[in-house]
Amino acid sequence: MSKVNLLNFDLDGLTAYCEGLGEKRFRATQLFRWIHQRGAADFSAMTDLAKSLRDKLTGLAEIRPLPVVSEHVSADGTIKWLFDVGAGNAVETVFIPEDDRGTLCVSSQAGCAVGCRFCSTGHQGFSRNLTTGEILAQLWQAEHVLRLRLKTPAGERVITNVVMMGMGEPLQNYDALVPALRTMLDDHGYGLSRRRVTVSTSGVVPMMDRLRVDCPVALAVSLHAPTDPLRNELVPLNRKYPLEELMAACLRYLDAAPRDFITFEYCMLDGVNDSLVQARELLALIDGRRGPRVPCKLNLIPFNPFPASGLTCSPKDSVTAFAKVLQDAGVVTTVRKTRGDDIDAACGQLAGEVQDRTRAAERMKRLPIPVVALGAAVPRPHEH
Ligand code: SF4
Repeated sequence: MSKVNLLNFDLDGLTAYCEGLGEKRFRATQLFRWIHQRGAADFSAMTDLAKSLRDKLTGLAEIRPLPVVSEHVSADGTIKWLFDVGAGNAVETVFIPEDDRGTLCVSSQAGCAVGCRFCSTGHQGFSRNLTTGEILAQLWQAEHVLRLRLKTPAGERVITNVVMMGMGEPLQNYDALVPALRTMLDDHGYGLSRRRVTVSTSGVVPMMDRLRVDCPVALAVSLHAPTDPLRNELVPLNRKYPLEELMAACLRYLDAAPRDFITFEYCMLDGVNDSLVQARELLALIDGRRGPRVPCKLNLIPFNPFPASGLTCSPKDSVTAFAKVLQDAGVVTTVRKTRGDDIDAACGQLAGEVQDRTRAAERMKRLPIPVVALGAAVPRPHEH
């Protein structure tokens, strides 16, 4: 009989498990703290638990790490791990150190079924959802490995922020995601504030509404296009949840969100979504002229090209001109610094290993993006 992986439980789940073993509630809290605050994987080290409980757990349960396939450290300190999740699948996790924070970018699925055109994970197709234990193992391992490596003083955290922006669409793995988020937020777990945990979605509207109720952390929305025809091509989920519905869901989410804005991600693709006309269309979308005004910050992401995409990154002057249209209108707009691009750890480059069950590569062959989606005769910023 395989052992129960305790990383699959949030505190409520672990409490129910311990109660099932005839243990009191506070024992679950002690166990939870040993696992997540101290990184213990060996029950015999949990010295304030009764020996009888430790023996019981040793027979029945385990804290299951993910096997590390590889680790790469970038010149800028970014670390990328490839974790084996079985059956020929591997997922990537990236640690991004900055002066005032340490951010971990966590994967939620082996592959992704959304199939965004500019995303190397999307091109690989989808294999399966990760379990809560596999999502949390990425944080558990990274935090405790780095604490040892950096000789972090007791009680100090290395990872201060988590972004669910690795491989996968987190809101298409909702049932596993929510207990993982709750463990990140739990004071007996990682104690991260809601503002420091971000779920990034391509716009799964019904699940945005559920997250708002169940676990409202910070929200980032992958927008990437200002109009439905173009977004239908770049983010196929738009055909199911078009921009009008997405923007309304963003506004509803803000009722409960820990921040008073949504972060919109916009990957800058040369000649596809980066013209000045499109910048103005984007402005109209978010400032209330084409629907509700959505308080937001805009994050422009320089595209990291990969051969199968057939796309290239917007030139720097296009990005600057595009940003200026939005900044001049008062929208907080930043251009994301690329980190770890020497180890393929930058945004959109996470590829892992995926045993595709969706024939994504075939679906993606339907290049090029139709002219009607691009907007015919759109003036290019660098032509002005
Ligand atoms: S950008 Fe996100 S939602 Fe789109 S294919 Fe990549 S992982 Fe999936």
